[in-house]
Amino acid sequence: MNPSLIDSHCHLDSYQEANELENTLKLCQELSVTKLITVGTNAEDWEIYQQMAAIHPEYISYTVGLHPTSVGEDYLEKTEQIFSYFLSPKKPCALGEIGLDYFHLPKEESEKQTILQRQKKAFKEQLRIAYELDCPIVVHSRNAFHDCIEMINESKVRWQRVVFHCFSEGPEEVEILNRLGGRASFTGIITYKNAQNVREAALQQGVEKIMIETDAPYLSPVPYRGKRNQPAYTHYIAHFCAELFKMDLNKFSQISYRNTHQFYRL
Ligand SMILES: [Zn+2]
Ligand SMILES: [Zn+2]
Repeated sequence: MNPSLIDSHCHLDSYQEANELENTLKLCQELSVTKLITVGTNAEDWEIYQQMAAIHPEYISYTVGLHPTSVGEDYLEKTEQIFSYFLSPKKPCALGEIGLDYFHLPKEESEKQTILQRQKKAFKEQLRIAYELDCPIVVHSRNAFHDCIEMINESKVRWQRVVFHCFSEGPEEVEILNRLGGRASFTGIITYKNAQNVREAALQQGVEKIMIETDAPYLSPVPYRGKRNQPAYTHYIAHFCAELFKMDLNKFSQISYRNTHQFYRL
């Protein structure tokens, strides 16, 4: 029997759309992944995830947040709805994912500036809401580490509540994040051959703060790299990390489970 694990960040909408959710949960059970946090990216999936969490309360928790690549002109109409989720009987466990994504910007300069400014305004607004709610925050930062840090500092949200998910920076950046009181969580990228900087970042942060996630359906870990990811593959990330931290799997699983449970107040 494997020790229990939590997938702290996945997106379950595509499994539901393909009528695969029950199989996905069954595979989780087989690999002892006993809790999943399905992470919101736009107003449509918030609704879907709230229902999923109501149907599978023992398995599924959810978050709401407007992902930087989902920010449109009408972002305020969307972010206005966030409070009502936190006031509902089936509350989200965090606000996210929110942040800045400089990877997917348009090439044309004025268009690029418009999108960039809009992303920043939506991030600022959601940080304001998070400050009021004093809830955990899932940050998506792609090629935007320092701008994210600066905006979170300005927002006055408590760094203890902040996780930079799918951490893909190196040890210096994780050191900055940790010094402020925040933390990083790690996807299957950590298992990739070319991701030495990410492994160094995880070691630099230390096992005492470790949290793992699949970001499924994206970013399958080795040995499934290139294939469709599954939340159950948290198992392979845990195996890999236990070796990285030179610990036995039981101990590693206990620590990562405890950290995730505490951070998200599950
Ligand atoms: Zn993300
Ligand atoms: Zn994600």
